[in-house]
Amino acid sequence: MSGQEHGYTTHELSPEQVEQVRAIALALPPLTEEQQDALGEVVAQAYMHRVQAEARAARGEPCEWFALCDRPAEGTMPHPTLGLVPICERCRAKVEAAR
Ligand SMILES: [Zn+2]
Repeated sequence: MSGQEHGYTTHELSPEQVEQVRAIALALPPLTEEQQDALGEVVAQAYMHRVQAEARAARGEPCEWFALCDRPAEGTMPHPTLGLVPICERCRAKVEAAR
């Protein structure tokens, strides 16, 4: 499988945003060696997916909850099929109202 290039790096963030993303990443529970061995690349990809979603949200990139929504994200939310995605205030309100 060829590597997907997302083009998202912490270099594009302001110092405050880098700290914010780092704090989120550090808040993720560390994996034991056994878990890393057992889960390997899948977990590494999930971890990066999450960190990158937080980074996009921190930059206020477009909401990814609904394909047609292009409002700026104000945070992240776990999507049932997409995993953690940046979400705008309006979509979050809709999702929370539906639950
Ligand atoms: Zn939205």
